[in-house]
Amino acid sequence: MFTREKTRQVKVGNLLLGGNEHIAIQSMASVKTSKIEEVSQQINACAAAGAELMRCSCLDFEDASSFKEIKKRICGIPLVADIHFDYRLALAAIEAGVDAIRINPGNIGEEKRIEQVVKACQERRIPVRVGVNGGSLDRSIYHGTETIKGEYLFSSAMKHISLLEKYGFHDIVISLKGSDVLETIAAYRLAAERLDYPLHLGVTEAGPMETSLIRSAAGLAPLLIDGIGNTIRISMSEEPVEEIKACARLLHDLGLKKDWPTFISCPTCGRTEVNLLPLAKRIRAYLEDHKICKTVAIMGCVVNGPGEARHADLGAAGGKGKWVIFKKEQILKTVDDSAIYDALIEEIKAL
Ligand code: SF4
Repeated sequence: MFTREKTRQVKVGNLLLGGNEHIAIQSMASVKTSKIEEVSQQINACAAAGAELMRCSCLDFEDASSFKEIKKRICGIPLVADIHFDYRLALAAIEAGVDAIRINPGNIGEEKRIEQVVKACQERRIPVRVGVNGGSLDRSIYHGTETIKGEYLFSSAMKHISLLEKYGFHDIVISLKGSDVLETIAAYRLAAERLDYPLHLGVTEAGPMETSLIRSAAGLAPLLIDGIGNTIRISMSEEPVEEIKACARLLHDLGLKKDWPTFISCPTCGRTEVNLLPLAKRIRAYLEDHKICKTVAIMGCVVNGPGEARHADLGAAGGKGKWVIFKKEQILKTVDDSAIYDALIEEIKAL
């Protein structure tokens, strides 16, 4: 199997995907690409949150030509132009300096067009992401049944990949996103068994945050644990910056990303006598926004609280309207519920 270290390496701008590289986090801008200022702001916000690659849709020539101006306004993060059907938009985006294109060659018509796109990519050393989605599969290869789960998604991608390979083009990244978790896992496993191209993992159309987090973790974690996947997106019906945080949390929880906070808080129960829930959300946001890569635990009572809190770099355990703050094994102080946020922030800053 081509695990993530064994895949070939593809360069997208200054970012390497595959080989021994880390798993890159990415999202997609939700603003029309020709709204240059707005889309640049969104890309910069995502980059500040930890995005390493951003995709922008490319619906017309105004979008395609915008990459030149967007690149002047952003922090150097590579951009992928997302194109469907019109090969001329791919050529225009490449001309405007985009770092990669997402296009499915089988959808752009006569081979002369594919050849032109491949040539332009080769000249500028731009990779192509072949991305098949459960909702837009090639009907010509579907016979109504699958003998192997995931085969339909995989075969759809292969049709596009072989068109690129025909022209000696191998700077390819593949995504095989179903909206069904088990089908998606199966398709990526087939790809990892048979191809050495880097894989972009994702479950498509995964819904709003609560739905997406569970569906994406269910789909991506088994693959990531098996060593499959070189870049990930957690699609959700939210602002793109939320996708970036979700990707980082998932990779961190699987031990695949060290530079992220470890946040622990209890679910609360009838023993809780402090206002834990808003505190937990505010402290987690502070740690993530400031990229403080420490372990912080917020626990609601003295039953499990002190034990858990003591293992953390910093912890707080509540009881009777007050909190005890711990630093490793040591009790630092006791503060009122109303003062705990400021007291914790002061201690976090001192870590
Ligand atoms: S730590 Fe205490 S308050 Fe929190 S869930 Fe456990 S028993 Fe309940």
